[in-house]
Amino acid sequence: MGNYQRLCQLSGQAACAASVKAGGYGLGIAFVGPTLWDAGCRTFFVAYLQEAVALRALLPEAVIYVFHGLDPDDVDEFRRLRLRPVLNSPEELAFTRGAQLEPAIHVDTGMQRLGFGAEHLPLLKAFLAEEPVPLLMSHLASADQAKSAMNTIQLQRFQELETAFRDRVPAFSLANTAGVMLGSAFHFDLTRPGIGLYGGSPDPNEAAGFEPVAIWHASVLQIRTLAPGTPVGYGGSYTTDSEQTVVTLSTGYADGYLRALSNRAVVSVNGFDLPVIGRVSMDLITVDATALVADGQRIQRGDWVELMGGAVTVDRLAKESGTIGYEILTRLGSRLERQVVR
Ligand SMILES: *Cc1c(COP(=O)(O)O)cnc(C)c1O
Repeated sequence: MGNYQRLCQLSGQAACAASVKAGGYGLGIAFVGPTLWDAGCRTFFVAYLQEAVALRALLPEAVIYVFHGLDPDDVDEFRRLRLRPVLNSPEELAFTRGAQLEPAIHVDTGMQRLGFGAEHLPLLKAFLAEEPVPLLMSHLASADQAKSAMNTIQLQRFQELETAFRDRVPAFSLANTAGVMLGSAFHFDLTRPGIGLYGGSPDPNEAAGFEPVAIWHASVLQIRTLAPGTPVGYGGSYTTDSEQTVVTLSTGYADGYLRALSNRAVVSVNGFDLPVIGRVSMDLITVDATALVADGQRIQRGDWVELMGGAVTVDRLAKESGTIGYEILTRLGSRLERQVVR
């Protein structure tokens, strides 16, 4: 997988792990897990224990961390499956004591979302004096804005943690995809990119040059030639202004094609961008194929049309719907048929 190789190179001396939460950002963990393992990835991060259990079944030898930490009821399962909780709170330190787990520690260095705060450092120090942990991590709040002062603040705090705990902890991890691209000071021992692996950019307005990974097609259900002045779709939010060829495709917001893309996005056929016209409905969208037909090209029932991929990037869809690539990918619907194409 080229994006993994690129992120490894960008990570320099640091090892490169993979964030594969949400089923590998919506692409399907059964595809993503083994593909990254074959590319050489050995350490994986997920959010929930159930995701880790599914990944363990696919990758018996992988190191698997669970961001959401540890519930006391789950201690046995973590141990049995050799999964590593990422501890975020004092309560979790207590659940861990003597449990023979290999937990990581997440320290909050400025995001105020998850992890131990500065007020917990004495407690952590006492814990680490007794129990070795394999990894200490933190997460960057504004890495997608390279110039943000927050990056420097968080880096400094994390460096202080490294200095304080280096003798007790063998590995430190700070960088997501955007953090990897901030340069070597942010890499420490282990990077844990997500979005770049899946071809997206941390900021949809700044191309990051990763290869498209998710290629999404819908099939043509119907083709109509409409007279000028004909309203299209729910609420007639679009009206033809000339004779237009309108093609109906089998996808909709239930498949993750966001309703916010109504009258905004394009789909791609043979190098032509066909505008989405009218509202996106649950299972259907309508696109204007007039330019394609005017060029003498045929389009017929059963043809496949690219909704996302090389021509229409995930970042373009993100921008057109006012979101980020992460949300486009993780909303890909469960009824989409997924195939690996190499
Ligand atoms: C999701 C996540 C990552 C990966 O972030 P990307 O921006 O997708 O590279 C890394 N660390 C944590 C804590 C995360 O939640």
